[in-house]
Amino acid sequence: MIPIRCFTCGKPIGHLWDKYNKELATGREAKEVFERIGIERYCCRTLFLTHVDWLSKAARYKK
Ligand SMILES: [Zn+2]
Repeated sequence: MIPIRCFTCGKPIGHLWDKYNKELATGREAKEVFERIGIERYCCRTLFLTHVDWLSKAARYKK
C-alpha cells in the first residue's frame, strides 16, 4: 500500500490514494489529478507514480 506520509516532505498522502485512483479511472491525466487533489510537490507525485507502476506490473504478472 501507499505510505501514509511522503517520505521526503512528510505531507499526509495515504488518504488521497483512493481519490487519486478514482480520478484516474475517469480518464484524467495523472498530472491533472495531482492538481485536483492538491499534490504539488514532485516528491509526493513520485510516490504515487511509482506506486501505480508497481500495481500495473503486478496485474500483468497475474495473467
Ligand atoms: Zn512530498
